[in-house]
Amino acid sequence: MKQATGLKKKAIRLSAKLLKLTGGLPFSAIYGGIGQILMFHRVLPNPDKPRLWSNAYLEVTPEYLEQVIVYYKHLGYHFLSLDGLYEMAQHGNLAKPFVIFTFDDGYRDNLTYAYPLMKKHKVPFAIYITTDFPDKKAILWWYALEEKILSHDRIKFSFNGKNYDLTAYTLEEKEKLYQQIHHLIQTTPVQEQARLFEALFTPEQLSAPLENVLSWDEIRDLATDELVSIGAHTVSHQRLSMLSGKQVQWEINHSINLIESHTGQKVKHFAYPFGDTQSFGQREINILKQNNILTATTTVSKNITRQALSSPLSLPRIAVGMSMTEDTLDLIRFGVIPMIRNKGKR
Ligand SMILES: [Zn+2]
Repeated sequence: MKQATGLKKKAIRLSAKLLKLTGGLPFSAIYGGIGQILMFHRVLPNPDKPRLWSNAYLEVTPEYLEQVIVYYKHLGYHFLSLDGLYEMAQHGNLAKPFVIFTFDDGYRDNLTYAYPLMKKHKVPFAIYITTDFPDKKAILWWYALEEKILSHDRIKFSFNGKNYDLTAYTLEEKEKLYQQIHHLIQTTPVQEQARLFEALFTPEQLSAPLENVLSWDEIRDLATDELVSIGAHTVSHQRLSMLSGKQVQWEINHSINLIESHTGQKVKHFAYPFGDTQSFGQREINILKQNNILTATTTVSKNITRQALSSPLSLPRIAVGMSMTEDTLDLIRFGVIPMIRNKGKR
């Protein structure tokens, strides 16, 4: 998500004002719903060195996270846990609008920077763990690539008989180069990626970003706090719809088993990697049911309506980024932005 331009910001401010005056009607009745599940990834202070937006857009500062908490607090929202949501849905007593905070993948900054704030404001939250993170098997190539491009003006490598000699000096050029190599990695079949990584990175460069993920000890400690739910997010963070039935079973079952054995607690919640409607289907939902999972979240950008609660294994979620102002959050609550994003589909 790019920073909103001046004109766009003005439009957002005006429409938020208008909706507040009219009480959010008519949108909020249809698209506003009864609450929101918010999605965050990393929570990090402003960096002291340049960053590439392609990765940084998934991060918020601790100050920003606290602003979002305070925003909902002032509105009188109920801060709900995923367990709480399931309970309320079962009993049908959803009186106050609610908000749920979730963090994806399992980064250490969730403990260092988000946790103290969530504790301070007594806000329950969930962290969805990709178990290859604490098992230190994940390849966080997108961070390795950012580091490599920021620290080198010239990148030379050979892959599949082709020699690449690429240069990028300015931040803008580096952003473009990141996109170019990102595309090459994404379009390389999974079984060939290891060779590409070998050509691009030293083993040290490739494993360095793993310093930024939660360890099993840290996850276990977090799980002992009642505010925290540890959910599953598969073993290796692949698009489940692209895998065989057997592989999907393993990705889901094994990630749940691993988290349960490390924390000693039942895993009741799940988030689909990527999370768009193309990334999962009835097959995945059935496997979650077999595992007694109570809720599963997607990245479909909608508010939670009573209707959505009848499908607790495919709940929509709103991604939160630094470029979102209070006015943007207003427009999300009223359902205007979700309506536009989903082209009017409820
Ligand atoms: Zn994820």
